[in-house]
Amino acid sequence: MKIERLTQIVSYAYRNVHYYKRMMDEKGIDPSSIEDYASLKKLPFLHKDEIQSRPEDFLSEEYKKFPKTKDIVLRRTSGSTGKYLKIYWDYKDDIKSMISLWNYRNRYYGVGPSDKFCGFYTASYQGNKIVEQQMVQKSLDGRYLGFCKINLTYERLLDCYKQMYSFDPKWFNLQPSIANLLAEIVEREHLAVPPSLKYIELSGEYLFEDVRKRIEQTFQVPVANQYGCNEANAIAYECKEGHMHCLTDHVLVEVIKNGEPVFEEEGDIYITSLSNYAMPFLRYQTGDRGILVQDPKCPCGSTRPELILKSGRSSDYITLRDSEKINAYVLMGIIEYTNEYMGTPIKQFQIIQTDIDRFTVKLVLKEEFSTWQSGVKENFLLNIQEEKLKNAQWDFQFIECILPDLQTGKFKYFINRYEERK
Ligand SMILES: [Zn+2]
Repeated sequence: MKIERLTQIVSYAYRNVHYYKRMMDEKGIDPSSIEDYASLKKLPFLHKDEIQSRPEDFLSEEYKKFPKTKDIVLRRTSGSTGKYLKIYWDYKDDIKSMISLWNYRNRYYGVGPSDKFCGFYTASYQGNKIVEQQMVQKSLDGRYLGFCKINLTYERLLDCYKQMYSFDPKWFNLQPSIANLLAEIVEREHLAVPPSLKYIELSGEYLFEDVRKRIEQTFQVPVANQYGCNEANAIAYECKEGHMHCLTDHVLVEVIKNGEPVFEEEGDIYITSLSNYAMPFLRYQTGDRGILVQDPKCPCGSTRPELILKSGRSSDYITLRDSEKINAYVLMGIIEYTNEYMGTPIKQFQIIQTDIDRFTVKLVLKEEFSTWQSGVKENFLLNIQEEKLKNAQWDFQFIECILPDLQTGKFKYFINRYEERK
């Protein structure tokens, strides 16, 4: 099936963006021949590192000049080397790319752009300095109350929640780890839920099923998962039947395994934005993993492909002997199996590689499982499938709570301290 908007953006990228012009000339690709999923395969993959090494090459020439310069909205996204990457959008494209998500939000939960909501925002860094020091932001129209993700201690989160309660929003837009901590606070401190709250949207991190259940139980409102990135905005959104359908109106999704697009098989997620003209992203690796189901036959009636997200980032890896590397998602599997087998005792976890063959496993158990520490440990060790990890040393720490990184507000399930030290 021909996708007109694909041909449009590929042709635009060829005419206005150095990188695409050079690449298509070198490969002898006619931009007007990229018209559907099959022909998309002619284009090479694009990785964040390539953009980071020469960001100017990826920005449309039109947007480097007046009057288009005044239409730019700038976002920052974290790069692989810890340096931030600037993402450019035309503010009109930015709004347009969100239309289908807003339609679904409205259809499923009666939530619209004029409804009050709360969220947490990322601080901007320049080098190591924080640019925006403001810890709380309220939009001029009084529709949004947001909190900076820096320094999210238990006390600060408790204070944020109290402000959220007084603001009384219709919905929350949160990352799962922060929503999980807010649920913990509400339960522990016996706090009430904002009376107007109707819906919670989760995005920005892998959503574990038990975390979702807990958030639903605590706040007593429907919870939906949304998958997106700064480069393309919303990519997939969960329907009422619990399936993440791709928002195909403005983004094409591919799952790549061994260099080829695959269906019903796990691989790396690549996106092609049909909306971002200021900085076109064609076959761009998001860093996340998933499975694409072309024809999901979902009871919701949608024929749009389903994206099943998998835990673990493509760039998170464990270092083995002789510099061999394996993806850290094998560790998420151990936690998932343990939870499945034992009735979900693990509320939060974080695994840190401290050295070759040495790991620290931080676990937070649910209250009713607090005496099960040795059983959980035993089960974890039994569930290690990867041969090369079976002889490693695993140090367990049972703790009360795991907070997001105090500097960035990001929550990491896996940290490779061994590589960080190098
Ligand atoms: Zn569906």
